[in-house]
Amino acid sequence: MTRMLIMGPPGSGKGTQAERISERLGVVAISTGDIFRANVKGGTPLGLEARKYMDNGDFVPDSVTNEMVRNRLSQDDAKEGFLLDGYPRTVAQVDYLDGILAAGEHKLGVVLQLTAVDEELVSRLLGRARETGRSDDNESVIRHRLALYHQQTEAVVARYAGRGILAEVDGMGGIEDVTDSVMGRIDDVLSAPARGL
Ligand code: AMP
Repeated sequence: MTRMLIMGPPGSGKGTQAERISERLGVVAISTGDIFRANVKGGTPLGLEARKYMDNGDFVPDSVTNEMVRNRLSQDDAKEGFLLDGYPRTVAQVDYLDGILAAGEHKLGVVLQLTAVDEELVSRLLGRARETGRSDDNESVIRHRLALYHQQTEAVVARYAGRGILAEVDGMGGIEDVTDSVMGRIDDVLSAPARGL
């Protein structure tokens, strides 16, 4: 079983690939965005709090997000492995996740990053907005979410690259091709000799 992350800018296909990888590897996919959206829909206190940020494309505060992830990872289906989609997005979240993992004497096996160019992402997301009506898929919010990715989440990617567990895959191909490349890169990283974490 493996503990892994999937990262990438909004619109890079993280959710789609996370589902496919989770099926192939038999680990649960956990999307922080999906958990927030379910809470917004259910009108829970967490949803009401998260919504204030999500609609503008801002990050939900680390304190709220971290606590939610801690709870989710403590559930039985995540005990033997997981694929986290959309977390961590800030360096403070990396530190928090390190703490959760260290407490269970666990380590991340692989961090996948789907890459894509901004303009392609904007047009993909505008297309998705027309199909799904997601409230955070209008152009100015999309551009803000991309900017946050560059400003904050690229530093997260760099952290994991420094640990030797990053696998980068071009996310702009067809769905099947991207999954095949991802599975190949996961094998490469998992079979490489571990570098000091
Ligand atoms: P996503 O579906 O991953 O694009 O996430 C949708 C929205 O949920 C984001 O734009 C944020 O408002 C919020 N969100 C999801 N994951 C996180 C996170 N790790 N930290 C802060 N906010 C998050």
